Amino acid sequence: MLKIGLTGGIGSGKTTVTTIFDKLNVPIIDADIISHQLVENGQPALLQIKELFGESVVNTDSSLNRQALRSIIFDNPEQKKILENLLHPLIYEKIESEIKLLNQAYCVISVPLLFETQMTDLVDRVLVIDCSVEEQINRLLSRDGMSIDIIKAFINNQVSREFRLSHADDLIINTGTHDKLAEDVKKLHNLYLSISTH
Ligand code: ADP
Repeated sequence: MLKIGLTGGIGSGKTTVTTIFDKLNVPIIDADIISHQLVENGQPALLQIKELFGESVVNTDSSLNRQALRSIIFDNPEQKKILENLLHPLIYEKIESEIKLLNQAYCVISVPLLFETQMTDLVDRVLVIDCSVEEQINRLLSRDGMSIDIIKAFINNQVSREFRLSHADDLIINTGTHDKLAEDVKKLHNLYLSISTH
C-alpha cells in the first residue's frame, strides 16, 4: 500500500484537504487524533504525564488539563522535549499499527510535524499543503481566535515554509477556492491510484 504523508504549517489547510480525501473514500490516519486518543482518561500516557509534570496537569475528573500542560511547556524547551520524548514514539507506533490494518491502494497519513518528528520514514511520498505565512495567520485568527503571538510561536516551532517546499514530492498550493482545492486533491488521488502497486 502506498503511504502518503500529508503535512503543512498550522492553518495551511491540512484538515480541509484530509476531509476531501476522506470523501473520496481514502483511508486517513491522523496523528492529531491519535495524540488526543493517547491522553484520554485512563490511558497509560496520561498517567505518565501526571507523573512527569505533576497533579496540576490533570483536572478533577482525571482528564488532561491541556491549558496547564501547554503553559508548562510553552517557552520551556526542556519540558517540551520531555513531553515529546514520551508522546512521539507512541504516536509513531500507533500509526504503524493502524497502517497494518489497512488494505487499500493508498492511504493518507496526516502528520503536522512530519519533518520535525522524523516520521518521514513511515511514508513513501510527502504531500505538502502550502500557503503563505500571512494567509496562515489570517486563517488562524478567524478559526481559533488565537493571539498573534501564540500563532507566531506555533509557526516558529515548525520547519520553515522553504524547508517544507524543498522536501515535498507533491504540493497543493491552497490559496484558491474550495472547489479548486477539491480539484487539486482529485488530481493527486488519480495519480496515487495510478502509481500504487496494490
Ligand atoms: P490545518 O489543519 O492545516 O491547521 P485547516 O484545514 O483547519 O488547517 O484550515 C485552517 C482554516 O482555514 C480553517 O478554518 C479552514 O476552513 C480555512 N481554510 C482552509 N483552506 C481554505 C481555503 N482554500 N479558502 C478559505 N479558507 C480556507
